[in-house]
Amino acid sequence: MLDALRNNLQRVRQRIANACARAGRAPAEVTLVAVTKSVGVDAIRALHGLGVTDIGENRVQDARDKQAALGGRVGLRWHMIGHLQTNKVRHALQLFDSVDALDSLRLAAEVERRLACGAAAAARAACPYPVLIECNVSGEAGKFGVRPADLPALLDAVRALPHIRVEGLMAMAPFGDDPEATRPVFAALRELAVAARARSGLALPRLSMGMTQDFEVAVEEGATTVRVGTALFRGV
Ligand SMILES: *Cc1c(COP(=O)(O)O)cnc(C)c1O
Repeated sequence: MLDALRNNLQRVRQRIANACARAGRAPAEVTLVAVTKSVGVDAIRALHGLGVTDIGENRVQDARDKQAALGGRVGLRWHMIGHLQTNKVRHALQLFDSVDALDSLRLAAEVERRLACGAAAAARAACPYPVLIECNVSGEAGKFGVRPADLPALLDAVRALPHIRVEGLMAMAPFGDDPEATRPVFAALRELAVAARARSGLALPRLSMGMTQDFEVAVEEGATTVRVGTALFRGV
């Protein structure tokens, strides 16, 4: 497993570097989040040993089981990349270093409420909890994420919550075989971020977009975080 994983990881890193070169960007601008939802803790340990720093999981219960088996977060940064239900927020905040798919004010309010209670609330206000707002750029029905037209209002509401820091935007492209088909979606998320920065004055440095099917296109369009699972674990 280790050899295959090492090769896959090296190939993904090389493809990110090549996409950066095409776009005149530095590879250090792009963080690889290894999406481990389909693999067990052996793979997570191996990735850690190979220098991966960031892990993505899309279910609270899976992250809890895996951290229990690993003995905690073990120095990795854990990203909640899936839809988070409000009744799971308390656990999510114990398990994840950031919520990368915040998609409603209701959810943000629950995150704020959980962070604001308890003894460590003041300390947490000094170092607010990072989130990304998920945007449904393509407007697909049944998909999570705020509509572009509703982003300014959500951003204004969430930035007013003292224990939360909005670090940027996240999007899922439509599924398909042609990575070029997703380019307009990624370009649109980048433009949404440009407009939101100008309007709000927030730095919004992070753009999480791109998966196995299209991470190179996402990097060319400005992704600072790519979320890759299949390309790392295929054949492992
Ligand atoms: C599963 C998942 C990914 C990774 O998908 P792959 O195609 O396996 O690279 C990325 N983002 C989210 C939100 C996911 O659920």
